[in-house]
Amino acid sequence: MCSVCDKDIKKLRHPKERPLFFLSVILTVVFFFVTLGFSLGGEELVAELKQEQIVEYRLDNPEAEEMTDPQIWQALDQEERELVETLEELDTVYVLIAPIGLILFMFWSFGQGYGHARSNAIHVTERQFPQLYKHWKELADELGMKVTPELYMINGNGQINAYATCVPGYRKYGMVYSDVVTKALNGADPTALRFILGHELGHIRFGHVTLFYAFFRTLSMLPGIAWLIGLPMSRAAEYGCDKVGYKLTGDHDCRGLFMLAAGKHHNLDVNAQEYRCEQVNKGSFWSLIANFGSSHPNVAWRITAIMENRHGPLIFGRIFNKKQ
Ligand SMILES: [Zn+2]
Repeated sequence: MCSVCDKDIKKLRHPKERPLFFLSVILTVVFFFVTLGFSLGGEELVAELKQEQIVEYRLDNPEAEEMTDPQIWQALDQEERELVETLEELDTVYVLIAPIGLILFMFWSFGQGYGHARSNAIHVTERQFPQLYKHWKELADELGMKVTPELYMINGNGQINAYATCVPGYRKYGMVYSDVVTKALNGADPTALRFILGHELGHIRFGHVTLFYAFFRTLSMLPGIAWLIGLPMSRAAEYGCDKVGYKLTGDHDCRGLFMLAAGKHHNLDVNAQEYRCEQVNKGSFWSLIANFGSSHPNVAWRITAIMENRHGPLIFGRIFNKKQ
């Protein structure tokens, strides 16, 4: 029975996620056509760039007055020549097949991941860890999924983790580490498990687990651009999925997120009031730095977003807020 309909899903998605993804799509398209343009007829521009660097070298090094252009070019550092030489070597055929190559690479690596799940993890079904499957199916139904994605459980070796992924165009599936499951299946409160499963189903429901999404976010995850677009977009996606997990479970005490912070044995022992005073209300400059380079928001920021029922900050948290 669908209890979280399309309208709810729209509200749960972080408002910055779509604009950042759109920016990433634009960036990819522009990059492709600019590169294609260079490969087709950028000789003049390349020659100009080359000449500019040569003139600059002559101005900085008067003793090079007698040197020829090719000699000066060779005298430049490899790093200084790199951009122009890369542009010179651009081949239209390579530019055209690069996106196809990337898609094939994605098929290969995603397929390999699925093969790993099929071969090394446990496929959770109605007859295999039925209790776990029941939670997964119930949550998928509540999200209005016509087909319940596959779920696998793998030995976590003490790690708390889960993720959702796909075989492009074929199937989407979730993976949960056994340590996330242990306590729930031992008869203790299953809220943390359900929150985490709901979060992963959120990734599937939001469309984060598709070839299209993976393809168009690739460029935005390259060093440099990642800090401005790719990583904030990823953090926005995580906040949205936390909201889905919360909506499905009503995990007011953030048991799921405290499991990430305190582990499976102590997540219920965390003094939420003290945590709120000490780590939520008191900001920290260094937590901002930790968040800046991460694909996931700081756990404290994720907990704040849930506790205060708002969309979490992508870059600037409460760094200077000393309120208690
Ligand atoms: Zn996630």
